[in-house]
Amino acid sequence: MTSPALPRVITTVAELRPLLDAQRAAGKSVGLVPTMGALHAGHTSLVEASRRQCDFTVVTIFVNPTQFGPNEDYQKYPRTLDSDLTALAACGTDLVFAPANDEVYRPGHATFVEMHGVALPLEGQRRPGHFRGVATVVLKLFNMVQPDVAFFGRKDYQQTCVIRQLVEDFDLPITIEVCPIVREADGLALSSRNVYLTAAQRQPALVLSRSLRRAAELAAAGEQDAAVILARMHELFFVEPEVRIDYIAVVDPKTLLDVTTIGAKTLAAIAAFVGKTRLIDNRLIGKGADESA
Ligand code: AMP
Repeated sequence: MTSPALPRVITTVAELRPLLDAQRAAGKSVGLVPTMGALHAGHTSLVEASRRQCDFTVVTIFVNPTQFGPNEDYQKYPRTLDSDLTALAACGTDLVFAPANDEVYRPGHATFVEMHGVALPLEGQRRPGHFRGVATVVLKLFNMVQPDVAFFGRKDYQQTCVIRQLVEDFDLPITIEVCPIVREADGLALSSRNVYLTAAQRQPALVLSRSLRRAAELAAAGEQDAAVILARMHELFFVEPEVRIDYIAVVDPKTLLDVTTIGAKTLAAIAAFVGKTRLIDNRLIGKGADESA
């Protein structure tokens, strides 16, 4: 069997614009899947969702320097364009936009999106400047591609809140679709950063999803006290000394502020270091939570 042809890759906005104008002129809807590359089945699930909903799917690959803190992994973030293109060919991507840094941040770039509200707690508190970088690059990608629909993963739950706020506040005519978290069979949420984990760290890393499952089970069984749920989640980390909690939180799924009582839909969210690798995971819990989330 021959492998599918690789999607066309373009690197400049000047080339991108006329290509997408032609699609729109032909009455085609455009779906956008923004990524930082190092693609896995979580990313390709977004492409598949776009293909179901839109006529033409654009995947962007750009490791955005402005969303990394000074001591974070920007330099060593995995860059795997060749295998990314093979994966994107297999799931039927129409076009890949992979700009260089100075195409996105041209010399003299001076404008950034500063967000309050949902951008402040959780990741916003631990990674100052992260969502400033995310909101800025996503706004730029939205303006470059001008999609009808943009697809994001619930894996980065707070990011989806930030993007929805951006769309609302800047009156962007774009529909945001949020897709379920894709996990390994053992529960580990797929992440480009999982490649940093050593074989010995792979098992301890499962404590994130295990404790979220415990939270979901407790809430489903009627436990409504957030403090009890948090305590039972923490217990599982006591026996994994190589995993260091950054935060475990039980929050309102819209405001991302801590709750004391579990509502019909509540978000349990975790960030933890496994060795030097920082992993995040989350799960909606409560009687109204969607189990597939
Ligand atoms: P990234 O390349 O890490 O910036 O991620 C690009 C998009 O893929 C974001 O919308 C992520 O939320 C989404 N994504 C990453 N991991 C997963 C996953 N395991 N399941 C679903 N979506 C994911």
